[in-house]
Amino acid sequence: MGYISNIINDINSILFPRLCFGCNALLTRGEEHICTICRNQLPLTEYNYEVENPVDRIFYGRVVIEKASAFLFFSENGIVKNLIHYLKYKNQVQIGQFLGDWYGHVLKENNSLAHIDYVIAVPLHKNKLKKRGYNQVALFAQKIAQHIDAQYIDHILIKTANTRTQTKKTRIHRWQQKQSLYILSDPNFLCNKNVLLVDDVITTGATMEVCAKTLGETPGIKLYLGAMAVVL
Ligand SMILES: [Zn+2]
Repeated sequence: MGYISNIINDINSILFPRLCFGCNALLTRGEEHICTICRNQLPLTEYNYEVENPVDRIFYGRVVIEKASAFLFFSENGIVKNLIHYLKYKNQVQIGQFLGDWYGHVLKENNSLAHIDYVIAVPLHKNKLKKRGYNQVALFAQKIAQHIDAQYIDHILIKTANTRTQTKKTRIHRWQQKQSLYILSDPNFLCNKNVLLVDDVITTGATMEVCAKTLGETPGIKLYLGAMAVVL
């Protein structure tokens, strides 16, 4: 049977070649999502939730959080950029699962987020969700939650307007801030809970900041931030 299924797999890979999401090379038998070379070259930050790191520093003086971290370094040309591009714009949701599984495993090994109650993904506006068909961070968040024995929830933090988080302080920005881009569907649900908020890429930290401020309105909440990748 193994022999026959290998042949079927080989025929499949000729008819439907599977390509590495990092470098577009043909994947060989046993390789999933990315090739062995890309896998070995993935720029892991090796930051954790114990020691202060440069991701924490992005949020200093901006919002009250316990700790922040990110799994990978993002660079403009490279494997991580390609992975996230396929994940966000090319329907390759399995990349989120792959990264979440890996990062979740690392976090579990470190035992640093063992006390987290809930994992929340930065939400999309419902129109954007409908258009894209999926929240690119959801599977990543779900996999992490599984590994650290937390619960994934997506009904508490709601995006109310279909706009990007502005980083420049324009008049429109101030207006949007006032209108509050994100709201809590239940202001007490996360009372005294440890919450991990996750996103795909932390660049300026603006999105995370606004989400964290909204979540931070909950009494007694302790917030942790995590991302697939960080731009430093
Ligand atoms: Zn590759």
